[in-house]
Amino acid sequence: AAAPVHGEKKVLLAAPRGYCAGVDRAVIAVEKALEHYGPPIYVRKQIVHNRHVVETLEERGAIFVEETDEVPEGSLLVFSAHGVSPAVVQSAKDRDLETIDATCPLVTKVHREAVRFAKNGYRILLIGHEGHEEVEGTYGEAPEVTTIVNGPEEVADLVVPEHEKLIWLSQTTLSVDETLETVRLLRERFPHLENPPSDDICYATSNRQHAIKKVAPQADLVLVVGSTNSSNSVRLVEVALEYGAKNAKLVDFAREVDEAWFEGVATVGVSSGASVPEVLVQEVLRLLADYGYGEIEEIVTAEEDIIFSLPKELRPILRAHG
Ligand code: SF4
Repeated sequence: AAAPVHGEKKVLLAAPRGYCAGVDRAVIAVEKALEHYGPPIYVRKQIVHNRHVVETLEERGAIFVEETDEVPEGSLLVFSAHGVSPAVVQSAKDRDLETIDATCPLVTKVHREAVRFAKNGYRILLIGHEGHEEVEGTYGEAPEVTTIVNGPEEVADLVVPEHEKLIWLSQTTLSVDETLETVRLLRERFPHLENPPSDDICYATSNRQHAIKKVAPQADLVLVVGSTNSSNSVRLVEVALEYGAKNAKLVDFAREVDEAWFEGVATVGVSSGASVPEVLVQEVLRLLADYGYGEIEEIVTAEEDIIFSLPKELRPILRAHG
């Protein structure tokens, strides 16, 4: 039997949570390509970092590959929401692949900034997680003049050529607070560091972090629905812990929730990453109701109404289908 719980059992449900406009667009792009062209449709890397989404599209005939050289010549290949470097675009051309670019427009914006600042003689300090697909793509726009900075702990040992104009850019799905700290430390070391024209951390990432910051201080346990390779989902767990949640866990599916986590827990906070369909959250809420956490209060910190138009390669077939 669980330890006695002090206070009423309830759920604080963070909003906004779940799907962002860039993920929605990327998933629809693959669905439309499957409908129109029929399987197989190849997708480079996971279209979005969510197990459920990838498995569902696989069942419908999408084939996920790591690199373009795994795709038969002449096939149709979709680039994922995280974006690709010019080298990848070229390798797809070299194999005569037809491509649909599902890169989120907010990632493309950062690519454009990288190109522009490189052209104007800047060294770019790209704050982001080395090895993440988005960072590989952005870095690939100007590799000779870009230095990746993983976080505040790397600033002290950073080596950049003297007298160079310096600008920082970032991955779209970082912790807002940690990035501010990284920039503060960078500026301490390099006072001539310039700011980008606008934030690179996207609206969806910052809105979801803002909402969880309101929920976390009141929560004994926070459940974030999302995959372990989803940057923005992992950040939500970290932010929840920083803002006072007593415990916080990342789960892909309701079936991964462990009953032992609920010992002495009165208030459960719930959120989900930007690549997570709402059905997965609803399954977690049903499970919570079974455990006695049936009362749900939604904590709304922002309304989102952003929609991106589909990749331009799809527009002709959409027109044909009406
Ligand atoms: Fe685009 Fe942000 Fe969504 Fe990434 S998390 S796909 S950058 S809107």
